Amino acid sequence: MIHIRSKREIDAIRKSCRIVVAALQLAEKLIAPGVETLKIDKQIEKLILQRGGYPAFKGYNGFPASSCISVDDEVVHGIPGKRVLAAGEIVSVDIGVECEGFFGDSARTFAVGEISEDKKQLMRVTQDSLNQGILKIADGARLSNVSHAIQNEVEKADYSVVRDLVGHGIGRKLHEDPQIPNYGAPNSGPRLRRGMVLAVEPMVNMGTFEVKTLEDNWTVVTQDGLPSAHFEHTVVVSDNGPEILTDDN
Ligand code: MG
Ligand code: MG
Repeated sequence: MIHIRSKREIDAIRKSCRIVVAALQLAEKLIAPGVETLKIDKQIEKLILQRGGYPAFKGYNGFPASSCISVDDEVVHGIPGKRVLAAGEIVSVDIGVECEGFFGDSARTFAVGEISEDKKQLMRVTQDSLNQGILKIADGARLSNVSHAIQNEVEKADYSVVRDLVGHGIGRKLHEDPQIPNYGAPNSGPRLRRGMVLAVEPMVNMGTFEVKTLEDNWTVVTQDGLPSAHFEHTVVVSDNGPEILTDDN
């Protein structure tokens, strides 16, 4: 069942999303060559707690950290640790926050120092695909139009969309119905309704869409070792189309 949230509930989700955005902005400031990913995670956790939130990923199915930090060929669910960032890498940071019983979720991919034109384009296309998907969000719209728009934007650039992982509804839980694949034919799936809250999150690979999970049972990497990018927004279906709750400002 896809929940319809009241204005009060959406305001609560918005509050969690503000904390997520602040934490992502902090991550962006901290990311630099020579920095250990665990150090970034610790700062993120501190900020979330200081703002009255709880890091939603910590302990989620046993995940050991407050953020997912995934470098280069790591797609998602990278565990912050002793890895030291190097110039030329791209790093995806995914953060979830719970505040007063409601959740927010967002991810961005950042450059570490100077990166290649190829990686810049991968990041740009991933962000564009998210935006194209979000543009399809409206009261009465079919969900798969969001998925289709994302796939279209990605494949136009000759990249591929990860199939094994999907976006999701969000609200009183981190992951709720519906599942939101980042590919598929248009004009199918449930109709979106005002008050639904969705976390849309394309994961885009430079090479093949195939992924595998490392022995730590968390880190998802590309099968071919080529880099991957990930952008995610929490979005409300509002009267005037999509309202993004995890934008900067
Ligand atoms: Mg996320
Ligand atoms: Mg998510």
